[in-house]
Amino acid sequence: MDTQLNNQADGQQNDDKRQAPGLAGLLSRARTIVLLALAVFVLTDLIGLTSLFWSIVGWLAVSASALYMAYESDLRERRAVARTQARGVRAQDEAGIGTALLNQLPDVIVLVDGRGRILFQNLAAAAFTGQSAVGKLLGSTFREPSLLQAVEQVRAGESVQAFEIVRSLPVERHFRVLATPAETAPAVPAVLLVLHDITDAKRIEQMRVDFVANASHELKTPLASVSGFIETLQGPARDDEEARERFLGIMAEQTHRMKRLIADLLSLSRIELREHQPPKGSIDMKLLVKEVVAAVTPIAERDGVELFVELPDDLPKVRGDWDELHQVVQNLVDNAVKYGRSGKKVEITGALHSENERAYVALFVRDFGPGIARQHIPRLTERFYRVDAVASRERGGTGLGLAIVKHILNRHGGEMVVESELGQGTKFTIMLPLYK
Ligand code: ADP
Repeated sequence: MDTQLNNQADGQQNDDKRQAPGLAGLLSRARTIVLLALAVFVLTDLIGLTSLFWSIVGWLAVSASALYMAYESDLRERRAVARTQARGVRAQDEAGIGTALLNQLPDVIVLVDGRGRILFQNLAAAAFTGQSAVGKLLGSTFREPSLLQAVEQVRAGESVQAFEIVRSLPVERHFRVLATPAETAPAVPAVLLVLHDITDAKRIEQMRVDFVANASHELKTPLASVSGFIETLQGPARDDEEARERFLGIMAEQTHRMKRLIADLLSLSRIELREHQPPKGSIDMKLLVKEVVAAVTPIAERDGVELFVELPDDLPKVRGDWDELHQVVQNLVDNAVKYGRSGKKVEITGALHSENERAYVALFVRDFGPGIARQHIPRLTERFYRVDAVASRERGGTGLGLAIVKHILNRHGGEMVVESELGQGTKFTIMLPLYK
């Protein structure tokens, strides 16, 4: 900021020098004394006190002194004005408040002078351009042609320029850039650059686009299959009893798939809406697990999977919403049976757990199936992410189950940890804060 302030102060002093008064100006300031002296010496000459020669010499001497005094006082005044102006500019940033505020802003702010050099940059910009970019040419720190071109356009007199740039190093970041003319001092036409990070907004936009594309794709396949069978039944297979039975069976299955998908989509959007309102109920997880196990047992039995449940009797209650937590546990147990059935056993256990001085109820759902490769684990809670899409669809999966689990846990202030080893099985741990 100092560079900018000094430059501004210099600019003002230069201005004042240019405005120094000429002889006419000085004469006008010293006019009263010169005229008074003229009157006095004319009088002394007339009454014979001095000769004409000495009257003229005396008048010239007094006038010269008056002019000199006028010049001196003008110089003093101009210096005082310059000092006041410089102080005034500094006062605008007294105690560095302006700079401190600009440094607090997450936006990158850079002021470029009329010669294309950086006059000022805030902290966010320093992280962007390097600590010592002040005084350097803008082009040596910013390489984006659109940005440099916009600065040129503003310097050439065009109004505000707004556009977007992408920086790919060290990670890809998107910025919305505003280049505006900035009058820092009368003689210094500068350009103010503001770069606002829109990476998150871009990512959300991309997620939304992907989500709509994925959801439509998931619905398109069963819908195409159903409409294909309808056409076949109306046409070539109209009188084929056996084909009709078979096709109707597939159509029912596909319709069921679409219903599941729509139910999961609705559930996800409902949970998202409520994500920032913490639940109020007090839930007995032992009771809830019992209910889930009762619902899953027929499927587990069909698939030859044994459900082993062991939760301590004195497990404290958790703060939660019954239906949502039911959905979480059901999803995890369903998945364990669905994907881990080759392990023949699913264990559901619980314990009181302390972490970072906070107490949780931890629930473990463990299967002994094929496990999940390490690279997939961080992505499991993404919408429509599946390790094996065919296996998921075959088993009635929508790819939304764990995304729903994640959002419900977020709302509950809970957490989920996934541990897995290929060939050994997978353990999902969820932790829920206690009801207090
Ligand atoms: P889906 O509806 O496909 O089951 P989820 O979101 O519930 O969707 O799970 C995402 C993916 O995670 C599944 O498609 C599956 O590939 C994998 N997965 C989830 N649970 C397990 C598990 N216990 N064992 C192996 N893979 C699993």
